[in-house]
Amino acid sequence: MKYDVIIIGGGPSGLMASIAAGEKGANVLLVDKGEKLGRKLAISGGGRCNVTNRLSIDEIIKHIPGNGRFLYSAFSEFNNEDIINFFEKLGVELKEEDHGRMFPVNNSAQSVVDALLERMNSLKITIYKNSPVAEVLYENDKTAGVLLKDGQTFKAGSVVVAVGGKSVPQTGSTGDGYAWAKKAGHTITELFPTEVPVTSNEPFIKDKSLQGLALRDVALSVLNVKGKPLITHRMDMLFTHFGISGPAVLRCSQFVVKELKKANSQTVTMKIDALPDANKEEVFQDVIKLLKEDPKKAVKNSLKGLLPERYLHFLLEKSGIDLQEQSGHLAHEKVRRFAELCKDFQFTVTGTHSIEKAFVTGGGVSVKEIHPKEMGSKLMPGLYFCGEILDIHGYTGGYNITSALVTGRLAGMNAALYAKGHS
Ligand SMILES: Cc1cc2nc3c(=O)[nH]c(=O)nc-3n(C[C@H](O)[C@H](O)[C@H](O)COP(=O)(O)OP(=O)(O)OC[C@H]3O[C@@H](n4cnc5c(N)ncnc54)[C@H](O)[C@@H]3O)c2cc1C
Repeated sequence: MKYDVIIIGGGPSGLMASIAAGEKGANVLLVDKGEKLGRKLAISGGGRCNVTNRLSIDEIIKHIPGNGRFLYSAFSEFNNEDIINFFEKLGVELKEEDHGRMFPVNNSAQSVVDALLERMNSLKITIYKNSPVAEVLYENDKTAGVLLKDGQTFKAGSVVVAVGGKSVPQTGSTGDGYAWAKKAGHTITELFPTEVPVTSNEPFIKDKSLQGLALRDVALSVLNVKGKPLITHRMDMLFTHFGISGPAVLRCSQFVVKELKKANSQTVTMKIDALPDANKEEVFQDVIKLLKEDPKKAVKNSLKGLLPERYLHFLLEKSGIDLQEQSGHLAHEKVRRFAELCKDFQFTVTGTHSIEKAFVTGGGVSVKEIHPKEMGSKLMPGLYFCGEILDIHGYTGGYNITSALVTGRLAGMNAALYAKGHS
């Protein structure tokens, strides 16, 4: 059986690609190795499916630190607002939450996946589940079809590779596509974990003294060897039994990975500014004022509410301050040290969890070898890529899914046009 277009992978990019190809009138086959389609999509955004983000295109690009700029041309064809219209037309009402994140009103990830599947059904797209692809076939320097692991071969005018990265392999994304891309001559840039918790061997991590403590709205930075911040993210973070996690940490994680490599070191330094709205002097003066209010009170009581209690006690102890000491007796240099630590608590981290445990895979098929408006290979006619297999990675918050849906849309549409033009 020959199809116009074969899509490999039923994640957001592949589902969207199949719909775009179907809407162009192509005869489409979508194959996925799993029993269910859209498994990762269904667990994204805390299980509510963060379908896209409503910030401006420039902001979206900024939130895609891995080759976001490559998407400018794609966004001129299909962008986040088009995604919103697309889902609303399918009957999925969306709502905007913090930081522009868009979710289905009913908070049901499955309703998003179901709407995509219904649309595929109405376009009569053939779906093969439980059908792992072993290879993409190339003949006479053109894409020719796919070979399934069970030995079946399907011919096609074009093939869209939408198999995702290597993260969370239990959702089906096991990095199968890189070998097929390489065979077509593509460069795979180095793969690395991003949006991933960070590990640390600091004594306060090892002894679990801060485990479970969440810090709200802090400025977390990754420092280079000279002590200068490479990146700062102001969000929440969490101390865990292995290191740190939470939104600010996930966003900083790729900079930890890169700096470890660049500095060729076992550790990288990070810093927490727990009071980012005030400078050091202001913090110092505020603390002095609080201590003076009731000089007989124990320090820990005078400063209650300045920081979450466990963190307050931790920093007081680090400053050499006895928690029970009378506020009026505290030496100014100790208060200065404490104010400094509130603004600049530095600690070392050793790396991150593995790529398999990361939310997102960094690196992938080099975007230099992909036509930015079509998602077609510059090296192999009839071959298209979309989604996380590409060397594009964003922060969590709907940016990766936006990239997957936009690149999927273009890949599917152009794969259909190519196949029909060459049949
Ligand atoms: C827990 C979690 C939360 C996340 N939250 C967010 C978030 O809030 N915002 C955000 O932007 N991103 C988030 N992401 C990332 C986002 O979900 C992914 O970037 C996105 O799903 C990638 O889409 P994709 O279509 O490229 O690949 P995937 O969704 O990985 O889909 C790939 C598909 O290909 C199939 N496949 C693989 N190999 C083969 C093969 N050999 N043969 C046949 N089929 C194959 C797989 O079975 C799978 O169905 C999250 C990820 C995780 C794990």
